[in-house]
Amino acid sequence: MSADANCIFCKIVAGQIPSRKVFEDEDLFAFHDIAPWAPVHFLIIPKLHIPSMAQVGPEHAALMGKIMTLAPQLAIEQGCRPYPEGGFRIVTNTGAEGGQEVHHLHVHVMGGPRPWLKG
Ligand code: AMP
Repeated sequence: MSADANCIFCKIVAGQIPSRKVFEDEDLFAFHDIAPWAPVHFLIIPKLHIPSMAQVGPEHAALMGKIMTLAPQLAIEQGCRPYPEGGFRIVTNTGAEGGQEVHHLHVHVMGGPRPWLKG
């Protein structure tokens, strides 16, 4: 399915719910997380409504590749310091036991100084 009328992230893609947009192209949308866990925290989502990583298959390989190659570019643009001193964390929660709350596939990209992490 291309969009789910009940999905909050589909509504963000459609502009029906406001967001702080970081990036958009024909396949992907990225926006700041409304409740950041880190100084830099944004989400990258496919415009296509895929509920989670559990539904990803070989037909999504190019799309997933786009997400993963966009992440480091946007991380630097959003203020993460360069590797190796800086860097970022990528997280994709999947399903209830994976901690997923919004059931539209998304990649969290988090970075910036975080005093609770050593090293
Ligand atoms: P997850 O637990 O992996 O499903 O994460 C969902 C994330 O979406 C959480 O970090 C929320 O803070 C974030 N979120 C929920 N609603 C919005 C919204 N309207 N705009 C931006 N981020 C949101």
